[in-house]
Amino acid sequence: MSDDRLSERLAGVEGLVFDVDGCLILSSQPAGHDGTALPGAVEAVAALRASGRRLVAFTNASNRPPRRIAESLRELGFDFPDEDVLTPSVVAADVVRQRFGDAPVLAFGATGVVDVLAKAGVRLATPGDGTAVAAVVVGWDTAFDQPKLQAAAEAIWAGAPLLVTSDAPAFATKGRRTAGVSGFIATGLAHIAGQTYEVVGKPSLLAASTAAARLGVPPERMLVVGDDLSLEVAMARRVGAVGVLITTGVCSRTDADAAAEGQRPHLVVDSLLELATLMLASATA
Ligand SMILES: [Mg+2]
Repeated sequence: MSDDRLSERLAGVEGLVFDVDGCLILSSQPAGHDGTALPGAVEAVAALRASGRRLVAFTNASNRPPRRIAESLRELGFDFPDEDVLTPSVVAADVVRQRFGDAPVLAFGATGVVDVLAKAGVRLATPGDGTAVAAVVVGWDTAFDQPKLQAAAEAIWAGAPLLVTSDAPAFATKGRRTAGVSGFIATGLAHIAGQTYEVVGKPSLLAASTAAARLGVPPERMLVVGDDLSLEVAMARRVGAVGVLITTGVCSRTDADAAAEGQRPHLVVDSLLELATLMLASATA
């Protein structure tokens, strides 16, 4: 994209979606409570908020509920109210309610999955009790054992679709990549059931529309920034939003250059401060 066209796109952005791990913070587990803010990130978020744009943080982590992640972000100086932190469980709750109404679902995960669904009014079945379920929802379940496997497989064999929070192979965490639990389970279940799964987190259209609705802006006036080409940049490109790769996590400039035309980010930055500076300059240009 030409520099002129890029500043025009940036000047038109009314809402921003920030990835968490590798973009705002690094912690020891996905969207963890022991995070460190990446350099310049707190200042950049504050400056963009002060410019009047709407902001949400959207992590594909489903190990913790949004309000806990929001608390951790606020402790680091990021001004995100609880309702402006999104996870795939928030999207899953919307999807399940829209598609299946009050029918029970079988959900696997810790509080970041089951509490979020229950709070949104989704009826949850108990694994193994034989209740017919409308869908199986898989998230970050570190205690996914054989009885759970059997219950999930039986539900899918009986026709329930399989939804997964994220199938990202890894998350950017302090000093290492953390292997993704949700995608690991979903891939195994898909293998056993001989059918595919649907991702509700980034980069899905479902995730993009939940983010745009929360921001209250049309997708073409939304900017998505994150460290993973296959998640944040892919989601942005899919809906005509501005996709920005930040190099403080899993993907590098070289990865961005190697991406196929149409899947490249509109912009690559090394810090959020760099993005904020460009955006604030484009707004006044
Ligand atoms: Mg990330």
